[in-house]
Amino acid sequence: EAKQLGRNTFQWYNRDLNKELGRQLTLRNELQKALTNKEFELYYQPQFDAQTLELTGVEALLRWKHPTLGMIAPSDFIPIAESSGQIIPLSEWVLETACGFAAQLLLRGYHQLLMAVNISSLQFQRSNFVDSVATLLQKYQLPAGSLELELTESILLSHADSAIEKLHQLKALGVHIAIDDFGTGFSSLSYLKHLPIQKIKIDRSFIRDVIRDRHDAAITKAIISMAHHLQITVIAEGVETKAQVAFLRKHHCNEFQGYYFAKPMPAAELELLLGSQQTEEQLAVLTSEREQ
Ligand code: C2E
Ligand code: MG
Ligand code: MG
Ligand code: MG
Repeated sequence: EAKQLGRNTFQWYNRDLNKELGRQLTLRNELQKALTNKEFELYYQPQFDAQTLELTGVEALLRWKHPTLGMIAPSDFIPIAESSGQIIPLSEWVLETACGFAAQLLLRGYHQLLMAVNISSLQFQRSNFVDSVATLLQKYQLPAGSLELELTESILLSHADSAIEKLHQLKALGVHIAIDDFGTGFSSLSYLKHLPIQKIKIDRSFIRDVIRDRHDAAITKAIISMAHHLQITVIAEGVETKAQVAFLRKHHCNEFQGYYFAKPMPAAELELLLGSQQTEEQLAVLTSEREQ
């Protein structure tokens, strides 16, 4: 009977696997046309100062609006694009679009805004990566200090020596570096000490249960305190509730990003939000309304 069950499970697994492979193949083919058909768009999710609730920056997040399949999530197509190499032209488009938009915002007088861009592993590993960043800054007359590159721990750990050298070159340019999804990789404290980074983004998985789970609370507090001792700024990802905000404030987290404040939005919507110059009071009203 157990055998029978095993076989059924295997068949189910197999069927699911085939379906999944089919989907991946479809997406891979569709990706080929998507750039030329202009199916991609960048959304921007605001980041806020924990104390003043001023908008300090935005993270550019890729969206694929397929004409028939609808909206496809980055987690569904970025791994595919990475394994096929399609991530290279796609990442170039992302970086260029984000820099262009950041330059526009600067021209409109939003001087303090940081534009954060996710960098893929393949993109970072390319020998011309630093040059390509410098070229874009030049092209859009964007001060390097307005650009923040988000790298994951695994990117930094996989090619440690050349990665650290690149970070120093980027730092020399004046570009900011943030470590994304922090806590999910295996960075040791001593390793962090050698990295020229400005910011750590605490992964959403720790923030999610930070109120209920004392382990997540302990990890979050430890990350903040360690980062501050190293003069590194801390932003919490995935902040969704008032209780999380209170906890993070109490433990001196510097910045917030999450649905509680704002979801990722199209460029035009972000401009409206910036134009409306929401004060802390207005934001507080907005969020308290959302709470009910
Ligand atoms: P990430 O860089 O960690 O981005 C944060 C993700 O968390 C985004 O998902 C964002 O929409 C989501 N998020 C933000 N606040 C909340 C919240 O309060 N609750 C919940 N449940 N989610 C929240 P998204 O846009 O689906 O992106 C997923 C991942 O895909 C990103 O994680 C990043 O690793 C990757 N990605 C997105 N855009 C790009 C890109 O342009 N280039 C590269 N290489 N990767 C990208
Ligand atoms: Mg990110
Ligand atoms: Mg993240
Ligand atoms: Mg992530």
